[in-house]
Amino acid sequence: MSGLALQNIVKEFGNFRAVNNVDLHVPHGTFVCMLGPSGCGKTTLLRMIAGLDLPTTGKIALDDQDITRMPTHKRELGMVFQSLALFPHLSVGENIAYPLRIRGAGKQEQKQRVDELLDMIHLKGFADRPVAKLSGGQRQRVAIARALTIAPKLFLLDEPLSALDAKLREAMQVELRQLQQRLGITTIVVTHDQREAMTMADTVVVMNGGEIRQVAPPIEIYRRPADSFVADFIGQTNLLELEKDAAQRVLAFGQVVEAVTMPDDLAKGILCVRPEDIELIAPREGVLSGQVSFIRDLGATTETFIDIAGRQIVAVSTQRENTQIKVGQMVGIAFAQDNSVVLRK
Ligand code: ATP
Repeated sequence: MSGLALQNIVKEFGNFRAVNNVDLHVPHGTFVCMLGPSGCGKTTLLRMIAGLDLPTTGKIALDDQDITRMPTHKRELGMVFQSLALFPHLSVGENIAYPLRIRGAGKQEQKQRVDELLDMIHLKGFADRPVAKLSGGQRQRVAIARALTIAPKLFLLDEPLSALDAKLREAMQVELRQLQQRLGITTIVVTHDQREAMTMADTVVVMNGGEIRQVAPPIEIYRRPADSFVADFIGQTNLLELEKDAAQRVLAFGQVVEAVTMPDDLAKGILCVRPEDIELIAPREGVLSGQVSFIRDLGATTETFIDIAGRQIVAVSTQRENTQIKVGQMVGIAFAQDNSVVLRK
């Protein structure tokens, strides 16, 4: 199997299981983001892939070769971790050339590669600049270039953009993705930022409590979350408890919701409906209804908060058709069945 394969990986620290039975295949040339809340085990997993930690049990293979116990320096990795570890006393060019220099490459080869990489990261002409005189984003790009000096088999990044301000981070996400697409390097990025994962990844791996909860392309993670944890973690969502009445009708908050069907074998469930999929209509039988409690006009979008039995539902609209809706008014919360998911409780 080409690419990276994790088989049944477990990592325990004393009695604590930080990673629990993880199986994952990262096909060659793809971009994977490991996403999850703080402490979910994503860094621990990346460290095992990098050879910085040994799994307690399980196997790691790269292009069919077992690398579980192979030392880091033999894995042909490019790594960018949170602390960039650029050499502050060296210039940009010397930093980028470093991996070649320690392999004994000649001056000419080093210069040629540095020029190529500076071109690639849009820092042409920066070779002699001291690293200390770079902006945060420029430093980040140098760290990325240095990790790519010797074309790696696997490119591993742990929260590589977290130190940057929001605007720069978003720009760098696009740059990093475009770079990876040009080079076709198998890349794994650890992040807790779902927007970052959605922007860059071919495949998002959502983790929680040391386990993988879902592996899917970003849009599928958003549209078809595997469970309520994933639904809640990715983007804004409304999660409503569902049950059936004696006539097998689906109820939420005791109200009949005709737009939802539940599998026969499910007595209870959770409905996931995204705010942008809700249309506010006049209240009527069979449509969930509630009272508007707050309206937030953000310019490009309007968020309407609707109270139902003490719970809040949020609807987002990009249109201006909702301007006639007022706080205190009763509204119907309509959505198409295709735009909602019923999850097991
Ligand atoms: P963050 O986003 O905060 O970095 P993470 O998802 O990367 O979180 P990990 O760093 O992988 O989380 O840690 C997973 C769990 O394992 C945490 O509960 C952490 O406290 C624990 N852990 C990590 N390294 C060790 C260690 N060396 N010894 C003991 N426990 C550890």
